[in-house]
Amino acid sequence: MPIYETIIGLEVHAQILTRSKMFCACSADYAGAAPNTHVCPVCMALPGSLPVINRAAVEKTILAGLALHCTIGPEAVFARKNYHYADLPKGYQISQYELPLCHDGWIEIEIPNETGNRVKRIGITRVHLEEDTGKLTHTGGASLVDLNRAGVPLLEIVTEPDMRSPEEAHAYLTMLQRILRYLGVSTADMEKGAMRCEANVSVRPVGQAQFGTKVEVKNLNSFRAVVQALEYEVARQIAVLESGGKVVQVTMGWDEAHGRTVVQRTKESADDYRYFPEPDLPPLVIEPAWVEALAARLPELPDAKTRRFVAELGLHPRDAALLAEDRGIAEYFEAVARESGDAKTAANWITGELFRLMNTATVEIAAVKITPAAFAALMRLVATGQINLNSAKRVFAIMFETGRSPDEIVQELGLAQVSDADVLAAAVAAVVARYPDEAAKYRGGKETLFNWFLGQVMRETRGKGNPAVVRELLAKALKG
Ligand code: ADP
Ligand code: ZN
Ligand code: MG
Repeated sequence: MPIYETIIGLEVHAQILTRSKMFCACSADYAGAAPNTHVCPVCMALPGSLPVINRAAVEKTILAGLALHCTIGPEAVFARKNYHYADLPKGYQISQYELPLCHDGWIEIEIPNETGNRVKRIGITRVHLEEDTGKLTHTGGASLVDLNRAGVPLLEIVTEPDMRSPEEAHAYLTMLQRILRYLGVSTADMEKGAMRCEANVSVRPVGQAQFGTKVEVKNLNSFRAVVQALEYEVARQIAVLESGGKVVQVTMGWDEAHGRTVVQRTKESADDYRYFPEPDLPPLVIEPAWVEALAARLPELPDAKTRRFVAELGLHPRDAALLAEDRGIAEYFEAVARESGDAKTAANWITGELFRLMNTATVEIAAVKITPAAFAALMRLVATGQINLNSAKRVFAIMFETGRSPDEIVQELGLAQVSDADVLAAAVAAVVARYPDEAAKYRGGKETLFNWFLGQVMRETRGKGNPAVVRELLAKALKG
């Protein structure tokens, strides 16, 4: 049996975050709205209505294209993609065909391997702009249409057939999602349908030059579904070839419940859609100055940020990547690092305590009540020995809960650390006097008892003793 190689190309649709729809003034924020309340003659396709291009949607598409290292324009033409479906009242979707807004780019993904991470470049064929369709709900005996979603701007991002495993497809989607979120172009939330993926997959015997026949899989509602569907399809196609059969080019759906792909359509090609230039919209001429202005607005992307956190702030690469992954978290971290002047400790606190509390309470960074200034003030209380680390964690949890200042909480709970040598010396003397046998054993060479004594003294001071001072006093006292 030959060894087979997997070939994957992905088509991703992402709803663009704009206030209004792609070709009309209806609000694009329809979540939770009653059906057919975000509609007008344009998105309901009433005769005589005419589309107007949403400038913000074009700009966000260009931003995405720039982040994906694409060539922009210089000319983009909207095209009619003709097909009949109940959620598409016009009988065609306005899309882009021969001249998309952005083309010929790439994205770098990281795939973990034995020696760390391998970086691989995935080609981006095109990034174009189109409109979303309405939504059908099938009830017993009837189908209901809601046009609130019809005409919402959609970004379509098509890759070259460059991925070689479901893991690479997963890494690509992860990276793409992160970038779209960073740019504020899309929420890219797959579970909510704001990002959708169609996976094209084929197999070929290793060594064969041309690709095998591909199958397209739709209805993939999560990263997990993409990986599972691809794994399933690869195994199925290999089995077909091994039994002497031929893979047929079809469009399949992913049946989540049964974990299998099912044929939806057998024949479909670009010709069937009878694409032609949209006569109601002029070709878009993209001025280089416009692209330059948008390029200047590109934020630093997660990869570059990770590298900077390592190089400039001395963070561990793993912490740097964690903090850079989300734009809000990265900004918060940088603010705390700036306020405190100690990036490494700030990184430890955020990836440790803060993430833990955020997870438990399912709170997003935007809703965190601890201001960077209060955060830095707490770090200073620890750095100057005014409270110990355990107390600091208690205070931090209260700050997280209430947004109060650390000084106030420390005072209220009486947590201020005791560094006064006289007070601590008394505690040390009391403990050593209480345990003469242990003290004798320690002097006899059982050095591990030192930490036990340290614990006893800390308990004596109700956790408020400054450990460094206690340690010094204890060493002296135990020498006898
Ligand atoms: P179609 O004309 O069927 O839409 P395209 O050439 O436009 O096909 O490609 C659609 C997607 O399928 C792209 O992401 C592309 O990378 C991918 N693709 C093309 N050929 C193959 C193949 N043989 N195996 C896997 N993916 C493929
Ligand atoms: Zn409308
Ligand atoms: Mg195609």
